[in-house]
Amino acid sequence: MASVRNLVIALGDQLSLGSSAFDGFDPSVDQIFMAEVHEESTHVWSSKMRIAVFLSAMRHFRVRLEERGWPIEYRALNHPENKGTLALELDDCIRRSNPSGLIMTTPGDWRVLSAIKAIAQSHRLPLDVRDDRHFFSTIRDFAAYAGSRRQLRMEFWYRSLRQRTGILMDGKSPAGGQWNFDTDNRKPFGSKGPPECRAPKHFEPDDLTLEVIALVKDRFPGHPGTLTSFGWPMTPEQAEDALNDFLDYRLSLFGPYEDAMWEGEPWLFHSRLSMAMNLKLLDPRHVITQVEKRYQSGQIGIESAEGFVRQILGWREYVRGIYWTQMPRYLELNALGAEHDLPHFFWTGKTTMNCLRECLTQSIEQGYAHHIQRLMVIGLFALLFGVRPSELHRWFLAVYVDAVEWVELPNTLGMSQYGDGGLLGSKPYIASGQYIKRMSNYCNGCRYDPATKTGERACPYTTMYWDFLIRHRQRLSMNPRMGMQIRNLDRLPEDEQKAITQAANQFRQKIKDTLEG
Ligand code: FAD
Ligand code: SF4
Repeated sequence: MASVRNLVIALGDQLSLGSSAFDGFDPSVDQIFMAEVHEESTHVWSSKMRIAVFLSAMRHFRVRLEERGWPIEYRALNHPENKGTLALELDDCIRRSNPSGLIMTTPGDWRVLSAIKAIAQSHRLPLDVRDDRHFFSTIRDFAAYAGSRRQLRMEFWYRSLRQRTGILMDGKSPAGGQWNFDTDNRKPFGSKGPPECRAPKHFEPDDLTLEVIALVKDRFPGHPGTLTSFGWPMTPEQAEDALNDFLDYRLSLFGPYEDAMWEGEPWLFHSRLSMAMNLKLLDPRHVITQVEKRYQSGQIGIESAEGFVRQILGWREYVRGIYWTQMPRYLELNALGAEHDLPHFFWTGKTTMNCLRECLTQSIEQGYAHHIQRLMVIGLFALLFGVRPSELHRWFLAVYVDAVEWVELPNTLGMSQYGDGGLLGSKPYIASGQYIKRMSNYCNGCRYDPATKTGERACPYTTMYWDFLIRHRQRLSMNPRMGMQIRNLDRLPEDEQKAITQAANQFRQKIKDTLEG
């Protein structure tokens, strides 16, 4: 039987030659294992776009490894003997290669780590799980930071990383004299709409991607979405092009319009780089260095530079720390006792609510929505409706091309649904339809009125916002950051509160009785 020294496992979101798993790799004695498996597209009902992105990026990485002459055991999805799960494929590969040990970089998913550990154990093989150097901090760093605190807040973790890395620092002080320019990051577009905004670079599918597109259409015909608009970067070179395109054409207005939305404009001034970073086609250090350079040369203002850096050095590192220090119990949390099923229209986009239809359709078709669309339109609806966080999590994990559990779960369950009861964020992100009206033009084309709480034209967001406050009044009134909203609720006469509760219940019932919303 062939024997290799180490079998190095490379997963679909670990597509970098600089990955720690390859440290010390010797092609004369070591081997790489990669597998495309059905389970990864079906354990949550993944969109066609998400499946195609992962498979195509993996196949491009395989070519790169082969060009280096590195031996690889690559099991394609359409291989006749494909066993359908990562664990079975790994088990099979170990039997064929008879390695003395397994090596991998920390994966992005607790479930995958557990499965690989179990296989290693069943073969009595040592498994070397190495730190992921792609991140600025290690899980141990975060655990040490979190261990000494009663409350976790992104802001303080972010400041500590700024100090440690020197990013956007003038000596010991933050560049621009403030740690945070959040208040300059909330401009709406106003009635004129967005300033001229160049769409992100589109990458025409090459032969490898076209092959994958055909495969996905054939193997996953009933999965959500289509592949007609596929234009994602699939290699490090394309990811670098996408980065430069963002730096040149959209970064300067990223800061002021970070939270704004506009009908028919899915990307606006966002980078669209999350997928490339999460699959490791693009190094976040490089991204941040380039952003800092633009700031230092005076091409962009501090509100865009800091606003953008905060997302990557702050939120991205913070949610990863939360994920790995809280799993697996985090998956089950449901602090608000939400008990409703996910409305069916989340999978079709068929709803009369204009904002939600826009954001859902775009998500299903493109595998993308920007942060405020995810948080303050889609997530907000689910939170106010009372959808079980675990169900919403499965939807978010299925739909987006950048969805990997370490980043998706804390954002969905923690930030968006308050399912962890305030571990990740200090209060639920709730608002009425008036917020959506202020930050977008969605309400202009909608049959509902965001200012109306009950009645024929009542905006479901507005009805359910007040209903949320009524339902959770006791809990929320203990949170000092909710004081103003609770005082506003208390100003509503009892009759009006009763009418709101009734209208919200009727709305939920209507959604349950019909497939559309
Ligand atoms: P930009 O707006 O250009 O931001 C720049 C980068 O900052 C992003 O590419 C991303 O890497 C990082 N970033 C921004 N916000 C966050 C955040 N809250 N957490 C972590 N990183 C952040 N992001 C994912 O990468 N994968 C997910 O599966 C995912 N699921 C989400 C689910 C919900 C409910 C919410 C509210 C947010 C989620 N996010 C997720 C965070 C964020 O919405 C996306 O990173 C962002 O929209 C990606 O688009 P972009 O690259 O254009 O980002
Ligand atoms: Fe959305 Fe309400 Fe505005 Fe309609 S009125 S777009 S449902 S916020």
